[in-house]
Amino acid sequence: MLNEVKKPKKPVVYYYLIVILIIILFNSLVMPYIAERQIKEVEYSQFLEMTDNGEVGKVEINEQENSIIFTDKAEENIYKTGMVEDAELSMRLYEAGIPFSGQIVEQASPFLNFMLTWIMPILIFTLLGRIISKKLVETAAGGGKNALAFGESGAKTYVPSEEGIRFNDVAGVDEAKESLSEIVDYLHNPVRYKQVGAKMPKGVLLVGPPGTGKTMLAKALAGEAKVPFFSISGSEFVQMFVGLGAHKVRDLFKQAKEKAPCIVFIDEIDAIGQSRGNKLASNDEREQTLNQLLTEMDGFEDNTGVVILAATNRPESLDPALLRPGRFDRRVNVELPDLKGREEILKVHAKNVSMADDVDYNVIARMSPGASGADLANIINEAALRAVRDNRLSVTQEDLEESIEIVIAGQVKKNAIMSEKEKRIVSYHEVGHALVAASQSHSAPIQKITIVPRTSGALGYTLQVEEQERNLMSKNELENQIATLTGGRAAEALIFNSITTGASNDIEKATDIAHAMVTRYGMHEDFGMVQLEKQDYQYMGGASSSTASAETQAKVDKAVIEIVQEQYEKAYQILKDNTDKLHELAGYLYDKETISGEEFMEILENK
Ligand code: ADP
Repeated sequence: MLNEVKKPKKPVVYYYLIVILIIILFNSLVMPYIAERQIKEVEYSQFLEMTDNGEVGKVEINEQENSIIFTDKAEENIYKTGMVEDAELSMRLYEAGIPFSGQIVEQASPFLNFMLTWIMPILIFTLLGRIISKKLVETAAGGGKNALAFGESGAKTYVPSEEGIRFNDVAGVDEAKESLSEIVDYLHNPVRYKQVGAKMPKGVLLVGPPGTGKTMLAKALAGEAKVPFFSISGSEFVQMFVGLGAHKVRDLFKQAKEKAPCIVFIDEIDAIGQSRGNKLASNDEREQTLNQLLTEMDGFEDNTGVVILAATNRPESLDPALLRPGRFDRRVNVELPDLKGREEILKVHAKNVSMADDVDYNVIARMSPGASGADLANIINEAALRAVRDNRLSVTQEDLEESIEIVIAGQVKKNAIMSEKEKRIVSYHEVGHALVAASQSHSAPIQKITIVPRTSGALGYTLQVEEQERNLMSKNELENQIATLTGGRAAEALIFNSITTGASNDIEKATDIAHAMVTRYGMHEDFGMVQLEKQDYQYMGGASSSTASAETQAKVDKAVIEIVQEQYEKAYQILKDNTDKLHELAGYLYDKETISGEEFMEILENK
């Protein structure tokens, strides 16, 4: 692990200043108030009365201030009263045997006073300040000598340590690792590069969907290169006041240069790096910060040993100036892992978990197409939690499969009650999907169907397994997918002659596929190879905007409807031809609530 180094929050002088300020305020405002409070003001008549009653201890007549200060017999309380023209006062006091006019109210010597009000507090606070600052520095150093106090940029600082993240811990992103290992080599051996006159890229941009291991790669790079690693998120640069962000950038680069060779990692760089041409989202502070970043990246010479790494999942939105050679001139794509990658990631994360011997990672990887590294890490952890819940010492295949279902569909709803009728409809719906899929592909298309309600709101679902990684999809395969999606609704219509709301998710997916076929894949004869839609953020759920005219748009809509409708009819026909099997399979599912892929194919092929 790279040890994070926490910086001491403020310089020690700062504490002393605050302490002195507090003391001044205390002495000038609070002390007089307290002193005042200790002396009780009374009427002159009360003074006379107390004198007569023999309750007065000592008296000080203060002619200059026109006041009399006196104490009670026990000399515990001090009183004050205004002077009144009273010729008999001295006589009266004398007769009563009260000492007067002397210095009664014991004033501490000025020296002692000064010591108590100024020197003592300063000493106490200085001592406290010293203890606190010592503690802070100790924590910052993590007990070691490698303390890297990082100024005001707010970056988290890591120092190299033996058990840090290494490239081996990041699986399934071999291409990215290859790109980065060159940088490791450079940081180890800069001379070799200088000899040839090769320049290292100043900046490397890691691009990919969330959770694919970009941060991990950056840390692994620092771990491999054994150099300090500064990590900061782009959003931390964006401040309320214009100029502060730029200041932070300056500070970051200053520190980095001092600590070279080192790696600076800016996560979510799109927070500051957004294209300046975008008037809608323009913002003075962000632009200044970006300009500063651009200047700083230009400002340090080649081969200084500082490598800037940045990560983003919205490369489209970045300012072109940031991407030009000399700045982030190398782009490393970190994509969602493929089948083999998923298997490797599962194995990496399984290393720290006690797994049963018979766990087949390949099956799990096939069950989780589209899962990111972070999802897979989560699946392993959910499985481990499930094993603990069941008081077992190791994680089984079943735990893993169940945890995929949890990640996809949520927990099993404990008290969900489905009426008999609903349960029957859901059985037919789910078998409808599977049956259409099976008769199109002639192989086991499913891993499992269940009709146990889940917390995500799914009443039942079909877990599909990909036999192998798909890179290309033919038009025919896409159409088959749409037919499979419409199979649920078709089964309801065929058997119950009525339709339910259960198909909404299928409708959404089927429409998306049909829409993409027409607008992006050029799979409709009327439009040919024309792009009718642009995808804005390829990694962020793929929001897209139409590039077609309103007139063409209307035609697109019509074409999409036709595609889905055609596939629905195909699915309906398949189910109609196999109504017996549909009844048989749905009956089985209704009774057992779960059916595996093998059981499904057995019933289907058992003519
Ligand atoms: P990103 O920065 O791309 O959003 P992270 O690097 O923060 O993603 O990854 C989050 C977590 O997901 C990591 O801590 C790790 O547990 C897991 N993870 C992601 N990708 C991988 C991978 N390729 N290999 C191993 N673990 C991964």
